[in-house]
Amino acid sequence: MTTRLLVTGGAGFIGSHYVRTLLGPGGPPDVVVTVLDALTYAGNPANLDPVRDDPRLVFIPGDICDAPLVDQVMAGHDQVVHFAAESHVDRSLLDASAFVRTNAGGTQTLLDAALRHGVAPFVQVSTDEVYGSAERDAWSEDEPLRPNSPYSASKASADLLALAQHVSHGLDVRVTRCANNYGPYQYPEKLIPRFATLLLDGNKVPLYGDGLHVREWLHVDDHVRAIEAVRARGRAGRVYNIGGTALTNRELVGLLLKECDAEWDSVEYVEDRKGHDRRYALDSSRISRELGFTPATDLSTGLAATLDWYRAHRSWWEPIVVRRARQA
Ligand code: NAD
Repeated sequence: MTTRLLVTGGAGFIGSHYVRTLLGPGGPPDVVVTVLDALTYAGNPANLDPVRDDPRLVFIPGDICDAPLVDQVMAGHDQVVHFAAESHVDRSLLDASAFVRTNAGGTQTLLDAALRHGVAPFVQVSTDEVYGSAERDAWSEDEPLRPNSPYSASKASADLLALAQHVSHGLDVRVTRCANNYGPYQYPEKLIPRFATLLLDGNKVPLYGDGLHVREWLHVDDHVRAIEAVRARGRAGRVYNIGGTALTNRELVGLLLKECDAEWDSVEYVEDRKGHDRRYALDSSRISRELGFTPATDLSTGLAATLDWYRAHRSWWEPIVVRRARQA
């Protein structure tokens, strides 16, 4: 039987990778996909070009906060994978309103429509940032949420609203909390594509604070495989951490410099980000034990491939970089 899947935010970085993968040669049989995406600054229809003519794909430009539209779209579907979000911490520090509106309000709008129309599972795609800074051990899924930025607080709100929909109303909701992603088609405001595009143009890169903040990094291919495992075989009401390779921002920048044949004099230390969490660390044993998921792409191979992609796709990122410079 054909599964009719609603993918929100499918024109963004991870959502479009998910859709290209589902509709690609290794994708599941009998899936048709509707992308609902408001095409904010981060949404780019070109991200779906490789599958644009696939008859299994329908694109609906629209806002997840638009309740009548969401109700109408939800009605024709069996399952939801929810990526749509305001996703950049720095922007949330300048103005949190869109984050609360989309990440919390939009998620509730989707959850209500999913409940009305019996659409499940509802996969809520979330982030390790909801746990706050990990001072000692790695976080398990039972760790209390202590988000420190407006972005992570709005994502934590969405997770709690999603889990409440499961407890209160019995909707099959599954939450994934993933580490930092990297890969092709990532909007060049996030660390790896921003630094890569700056270095490829021979510019300096700005490194926050002392550069010793620790993050885990996962190739977007692996994140998408993990989400598919959760959609297909996960349990209702369950949260799944999805970790990656841990390193300091300084170590990561060292790898990027090497990839771009640049030296440390290309790095400018800048004032630290407000409320910058020192360390994220995930215990990902649940998804490995219960769903058999482990990452397949090691960081150095994944980074090299990502840099190759940015080298080969200037026509994708140069207009964005020019637009960002004009707006600055
Ligand atoms: P992105 O910013 O690249 O894409 C977000 C997409 O959502 C865009 O296409 C945008 O147009 C769309 N969107 C925004 N507001 C909308 C609205 N009101 N209605 C409909 N569409 C809207 O983000 P991403 O990096 O691909 O992240 C996708 C999801 O994964 C987010 O929920 C994010 O919190 C989560 N996540 C991201 C990372 C990461 O490293 N990028 C890590 C873990 C989790």
